[in-house]
Amino acid sequence: MSLVRTYATIPLEVERGEDVHVFDASGRRYLDLYAGHAVCSTGHCHPRVVKAIQDQAAKLLFYSNVVGSKIRDRAAAALVRNIPGFRALFSSSGAEANEDALKLARKVTGRDEVVAMEGGFHGRTAGAMSVTGNPRMRVGPQVPGVRFVPFGEVPEITAGTAAVLLEPIQSMSGVISASPETLREIRKRCDDAGAFLIYDEVQTGIGRTGEMFYSGTHGVTPDIVTLAKGIGSGFPLAAALVRDAIAEKVEIGDFGHTYGGGPVAMAALEATIEVVEGLLPNVKETGAYLAERLKKFGEVRGRGFLLGLKIDGSAKALLAELLKRGVIVGASGEPDVIRLLPPLTLQKEHVDAFMVELDAALR
Ligand code: PLP
Repeated sequence: MSLVRTYATIPLEVERGEDVHVFDASGRRYLDLYAGHAVCSTGHCHPRVVKAIQDQAAKLLFYSNVVGSKIRDRAAAALVRNIPGFRALFSSSGAEANEDALKLARKVTGRDEVVAMEGGFHGRTAGAMSVTGNPRMRVGPQVPGVRFVPFGEVPEITAGTAAVLLEPIQSMSGVISASPETLREIRKRCDDAGAFLIYDEVQTGIGRTGEMFYSGTHGVTPDIVTLAKGIGSGFPLAAALVRDAIAEKVEIGDFGHTYGGGPVAMAALEATIEVVEGLLPNVKETGAYLAERLKKFGEVRGRGFLLGLKIDGSAKALLAELLKRGVIVGASGEPDVIRLLPPLTLQKEHVDAFMVELDAALR
């Protein structure tokens, strides 16, 4: 054994992937409705993304942020063209993007308190785990200044609050959405108190709910948006998107990640954004079709291709049965909820094939 145990694994070794399918060493094909934890947004090995990575890798594998880079400028512009008035601060993982967001909010407001949501998940580094609303994830001393409130309620926000941090749809804890009214009221209270609103869009961002970002929907735009997972189609990359006025307050030396904004990651990002822009109508249409067809099996939660299905039985058992039938789905923090986070390229014919297997698996 040469690896430290991290995740509970499923009995499958993936050797290669193509669009919405992955293949094991024997060549058996699996329909992937999990996308490696919502990461493979453009489908496995999308030719345009692969070519962009290969071309850039052959030209310049890496140079740090100490030099200018056309590909970095282009990729950042592509990322923020769907969220005008924001600038990108690149890092490599969702936890880092959230660390940056929290530090930025505390630095710019000069306040300490962060209001975070029960049930929320933001990563496993010290700061990110300290705002994660699942006590099991919080190990050892925590970064102080965090107040947890029930998700879905409008919290009190005071003159000492630096920021409210939330996932607009809590994925890990069972795909639970905050109502638009709640989000709007939180936005208003943040404005009244001079606190920042931070959306963790590590899962909801980059097209997964049918819009490039959840930010901007329901008339609510946060001050900082964190992104990871689907942003590089699988190439490690993350970002905190920051309003111009906040970005102006950042001084040289405050933030930085050696790998953040590296050329190959940027090539992956630029190609990913171009592909995802074309996939948004599919996410809306096929997501609605999938949600509709799932209804007869249980309660359907979520939006677009971030869906939860609450069944009458064990999610773990269903996962195992579906895997035997050549379909990969995800578990969640709730024992009776499976999660469907497919590549954004999923088509109705794949949904139909899944329905046959789901129907048989649940019998
Ligand atoms: N935020 C959310 C909503 C997540 O789902 C995750 C990971 O699952 C993270 C943050 C942490 O991202 P990473 O594992 O890249 O640090």
